[in-house]
Amino acid sequence: MSRLSVVFGGSRGIGRAVARLLAQRGHRVVVISRNAEAAQATAAALPGADHVALSCDVSKEKEVQKTFEGIQKNCGTVGYLVNAAGINRDGLLLRTRPDDMVSLLQTNLLGSMLTCRAALRSMLGQGGAIVNIGSVVGLKGNAGQCAYSASKAGLEGFTRSLAKEVASRNVRVNLVAPGFIRTDMTAGLREEETGGGERRIPLGRFGEPEEVAQAVLFLLESPYITGQVLVVDGGLQLAM
Ligand code: NDP
Repeated sequence: MSRLSVVFGGSRGIGRAVARLLAQRGHRVVVISRNAEAAQATAAALPGADHVALSCDVSKEKEVQKTFEGIQKNCGTVGYLVNAAGINRDGLLLRTRPDDMVSLLQTNLLGSMLTCRAALRSMLGQGGAIVNIGSVVGLKGNAGQCAYSASKAGLEGFTRSLAKEVASRNVRVNLVAPGFIRTDMTAGLREEETGGGERRIPLGRFGEPEEVAQAVLFLLESPYITGQVLVVDGGLQLAM
């Protein structure tokens, strides 16, 4: 299988930790986010040489298509795809604007469907592995996160269905569902938004992006696991 890995949302947070781990394992990594400079800075700091940085908005079908055409032409066939691009817009449903619901679904759900669809064109010939980043709130629900949790629950169903569609072609598709992880996304959360903060988490702290990256790498490299959800949440799900 190709040792070319594509990480959407690779410029920051969980995606950046995944990109770093893959580079440490000797992969050539394509780091993708909307902000080209941020992707470039992350790619340049990865161990090893020859990594690539690209700008692409996952919610835009034409951009995703062109991005994969460019990767295929300039870098070769993709072996691993990680979908870590995501946004949150927390708030009670009655206070959530329909525009924000659309953005959430387009980025967190449709975006991963578009990247998987584009990557599969090259993966189906030689095999590959995909990991989507969901969330524990997609599994359990959370007041104040209706639209976000709907996007992540959708991603879980999508992951299981796609796993069934492509298993016979040796392409595996899994999902990692993190709890609260210390990134830009959670930096501004107030205690009421986390439902009691770190005290609520059995392991007593937020997770680090590198701890999620370990689980992502495990699933990418496990040749007999597909269609699974791996929760990385310090036990939070037990308390939800
Ligand atoms: P960050 O906000 O730290 O990073 C998000 C990344 O996604 C950035 O690289 C950002 O770059 C990119 N991104 C956002 N929107 C788009 C877009 N439309 N197109 C392309 N890239 C985009 O978030 P995290 O690392 O915390 O989150 C990563 C994933 O993990 C998300 O899917 C999130 O929902 C999920 N998650 C996070 C949890 C947490 O506690 N942090 C918990 C559970 C799940 P740019 O803005 O330049 O595009």
